[in-house]
Amino acid sequence: MKAVVYAEYGAMPELRDVPEPQCPPAGAVVAVRATGVCRSDWHAWKGHDPVALPNIPGHELAGEVVEVGPAVTGWRPGARVTVPFVCGCGACAYCLAGDAQVCPHQTQPGFTGPGSFAERVAIEAADVNLVALPDSVDFVTAASLGCRFATAFRALTAHGRLAPGEWLAVHGCGGVGLSAVQIGVALGARVVAIDVSAPARARAAELGAMVVETPEAIPDLTGGGAHVSVDAVGSPATAVASVSCLRRRGRHVQVGLLLGDSARPPLPMDLVVAHELSIHGSHGMAASDYPPLLALVADGTLRPDLLVGNRISLDQVGAALAAMDRPGGAGMTVVELP
Ligand SMILES: [Zn+2]
Ligand SMILES: [Zn+2]
Repeated sequence: MKAVVYAEYGAMPELRDVPEPQCPPAGAVVAVRATGVCRSDWHAWKGHDPVALPNIPGHELAGEVVEVGPAVTGWRPGARVTVPFVCGCGACAYCLAGDAQVCPHQTQPGFTGPGSFAERVAIEAADVNLVALPDSVDFVTAASLGCRFATAFRALTAHGRLAPGEWLAVHGCGGVGLSAVQIGVALGARVVAIDVSAPARARAAELGAMVVETPEAIPDLTGGGAHVSVDAVGSPATAVASVSCLRRRGRHVQVGLLLGDSARPPLPMDLVVAHELSIHGSHGMAASDYPPLLALVADGTLRPDLLVGNRISLDQVGAALAAMDRPGGAGMTVVELP
């Protein structure tokens, strides 16, 4: 089959013929029909997040099941599916409690094994990790849930417990930030988005957010601070700004990755105590939590497809990853396969 492969960190990924994936005994092989290109793929390609080489990247996929292992009970070939970027083992206490997103034995396509920039990809523990797609949700829309939209949804609902009428602050208007803006507006919150880039602010405004250039404006704008705030960038400055812009009893959710010791933020723990703030980390979303999100996509309440900027083919993945050396871009890029 064809797959996008890089043999060394930073070497241009190439479309090559590679062996077919082996179906795990409790897993499935999925024919990829759409797969998102994400900054996490770029981090692995650059060597910031070590992977075994050569590597087939790609982790935001939707497609059709073509083979299941003998231990799989819930799936048959032909099913239309998506998959969380964190796949649980299905056997540990976390997986059994529905928290596969923090499974200690997790697998991640494109990171711990071959990923989805390929015609077919193997997924472990299919009964735990495959998510059925409603007929009305097409493959590109499902792939655009990716890690970003699904992570933003879980950050605001499970962690932020965002209620209608509350103020949501979103720090950073890239893929995950714009996802949080759209979801916050759809949930009936009042959303303020912060970004240094004027085009990013303009996109957030189109999606229904009030926009500001710096976080200092948030307490006045919100009458005392945000109820929920998300750091969608992942830097010491934005993490501190997010915690600092909360009102009393506010909830901060860290979504942007903070890789390495230099990225440890000096959080204002005095405010956390005095104002009873809570601090959450959000790491994707388990397959078992997808149905409420997919229901809102199926009925049109949420439109992740509006965040898709470019549709490309598999042979353009290398150039798309290389383009991430520079910031910006026009929304999410999704690879379509025939
Ligand atoms: Zn597990
Ligand atoms: Zn991703």
